[in-house]
Amino acid sequence: MIEISGLTKAYGDTRVLDGIDLTVADGQIAAVVGPSGAGKSTLARCINLLERPTSGSITVSGQDLAALSGKQLRLARREIGTVFQSANLLRRLTAAQNIALPMRHQGVPEAEIRRRVGDLLERVGMLQRANHYPSQLSGGQRQRVGIARGLALQPSVLLSDEATSGLDPDATRAILDLLTELRDDLGVTILVITHEMDVVRSIADHVAQLDHGRIVEQGAVADVVRRS
Ligand code: ADP
Ligand code: ADP
Repeated sequence: MIEISGLTKAYGDTRVLDGIDLTVADGQIAAVVGPSGAGKSTLARCINLLERPTSGSITVSGQDLAALSGKQLRLARREIGTVFQSANLLRRLTAAQNIALPMRHQGVPEAEIRRRVGDLLERVGMLQRANHYPSQLSGGQRQRVGIARGLALQPSVLLSDEATSGLDPDATRAILDLLTELRDDLGVTILVITHEMDVVRSIADHVAQLDHGRIVEQGAVADVVRRS
């Protein structure tokens, strides 16, 4: 479960996030939607610990991330896998090597890496493309590899930051279906950050609308979409 409470992030005098309260239940797919400049990326970077909040708390599986430092913080980072816009794969590494990278950084034994890379390639339907470089893959295939890399350290939360931006409707649909399947099979909690209401409608159980750093509305997707 993710529990965000009173989260504020300021750069100088500017509050980019202002008192965010958001709860995502275990195994839920929740979405944060909002226009450009609303604060979505900043929220994503606070949740995956690339940035520290100015105040407030972010609790994942009972642990307050904002209170951690040092080794505990490094351990907590494994709990949240991120899928980035345009996948952000390393160009000089194959699909398999990109997926293996987070495990290599953590010192996972090579035999275990091989097993998990094979399992992840299969889960995202990329076993046949294991030795392809990113330039040899379509946008949708790159994003499949990005999802597998996001899951490499077996996180309890998968954060998707504009993962389908730039994909055509069919590729978008396929990625959203894959995320739903992963939630169903692995029980991973998924938080989707997007500017596209269509993405929210087709995948999320719960949605929060972000505008100017504040959540202006949140609830079950059917209710919020009807009102907006
Ligand atoms: P979104 O992802 O919804 O487009 P962002 O989180 O990228 O929104 O940005 C929200 C606001 O915060 C914007 O006005 C942006 O200019 C500002 N902002 C983001 N990062 C920084 C930063 N490092 N320093 C100063 N302002 C920032
Ligand atoms: P390296 O020379 O960096 O080991 P490889 O491409 O051989 O490069 O492998 C990268 C990682 O991915 C290794 O941990 C390897 O075991 C794993 N791997 C590579 N191809 C496959 C595959 N088809 N199935 C399962 N694991 C694979």
